[in-house]
Amino acid sequence: VVTTVEPLPVLGHDVRVPLVTGGEVTYAALDYAASAPALRRVWDDVAAYAPYYGSVHRGAGYLSQLSTDLFEGCRATVAGFLGCREGDQVVFTRSTTDSLNLLASVLPAGCRVFVFETEHHAALLPWRDAEVTYLDAPRSPAEAVETLERALADREPYGPALVCVTGASNVTGELWPVRELAAAAHAHGARIVLDAAQLAPHHPVDVAGWDVDWVAFSGHKLYAPFGAGVLAGRADWLREAEPYLAGGGASRRVARDAEGGVEVEWHDTVARHEAGSPNVIGAYAIAAACKALQETGFDRLVERERELIARVRAGLADVPGVRVLSLFGADAPRVGVLSFVVDGWNSSHFAAALSAEYGIGVRDGLFCAHPLVRVLLDGDRGAPGECGPSDGRSLNAIRVSFGAGTPDEHVERFVRAVRELVT
Ligand code: PMP
Repeated sequence: VVTTVEPLPVLGHDVRVPLVTGGEVTYAALDYAASAPALRRVWDDVAAYAPYYGSVHRGAGYLSQLSTDLFEGCRATVAGFLGCREGDQVVFTRSTTDSLNLLASVLPAGCRVFVFETEHHAALLPWRDAEVTYLDAPRSPAEAVETLERALADREPYGPALVCVTGASNVTGELWPVRELAAAAHAHGARIVLDAAQLAPHHPVDVAGWDVDWVAFSGHKLYAPFGAGVLAGRADWLREAEPYLAGGGASRRVARDAEGGVEVEWHDTVARHEAGSPNVIGAYAIAAACKALQETGFDRLVERERELIARVRAGLADVPGVRVLSLFGADAPRVGVLSFVVDGWNSSHFAAALSAEYGIGVRDGLFCAHPLVRVLLDGDRGAPGECGPSDGRSLNAIRVSFGAGTPDEHVERFVRAVRELVT
């Protein structure tokens, strides 16, 4: 027995896929960190709502009114799930990438951004129109806090600042010291945004308790379908900035002005950054996922994942040539995400063999975190492409990731497959 807690029912785990050897097996989706399968309950909730949907904020009809109420209600559900403060806003976006770009578009003038090089590109890149300080990869959570404190204290001139940090790495799965980083940011007059794309599906988020100013996550990693994400947090920067997208819904009043142009008065609520017809189904699905996870209880999810991680770690530990990637050390707490390399194997070939011979779906590559993967593989920094295979080191890695729906058999099959391929 691998786990003592039952997995949650999800879609896609009964799909049969062909094997190169001729037979077929059920697909083992071990790439939850890219996109998790939808919870069956989320799917059922969306299907039950689908006949009733109408345009929100626009229609006089009954279904439009109903949809508007449901859509607005989704914000409260998400705020509850994230542990938001009174007055925090929940903006529905397309994804984490979209949420962080939205936040980048509302930075006050002169804002300096602090970001670790270890971030996913969605958290590393949106700030490039601002002054950015890139922080070297720390080798422990304590070093992360010290590095940030030093950089914030050194900043000149002392003006508005934003720290962007991940809750759980999409490469190593390691947990970052969010509460301590938030305290450091605030002690130095900075704000902090939490990239919870990988954290939220596995671990409760506590915006108020951790004192983070904003949090971003994606529905498709939280057991909901694609197309919707969330930016939640402080209203002030959002309210004071130009809308992220210009258009209907964001504007309260538009009129021709005396010079023959148009003058616009923008909404000062969430509508300001949600121009156009919103993704109501996406928001509804996210709220359904939040409810399902809360009702299941994170204790149960965390417990199950701990058992699965322990099984994977134990299964890989004595396989010759398998190296698990880690910044904070082998025993650092992590969510169900783990990357590794295998001596003598090209990681892409290894991942392809897992798929073709065992029906296991993992990811190989650099995981949209090129600087981090380079540090993990080389223990070194430099321009991309500089690390070469001449010394036999890996250029990329293999990532296995799982979550609330993962049956024991998938993890067992993965461990067996790695052992068989290597030996
Ligand atoms: N941040 C992290 C830590 C991620 O893992 C991802 C997705 N891999 C993102 C941000 C971006 O999420 P999305 O592709 O849904 O915008």
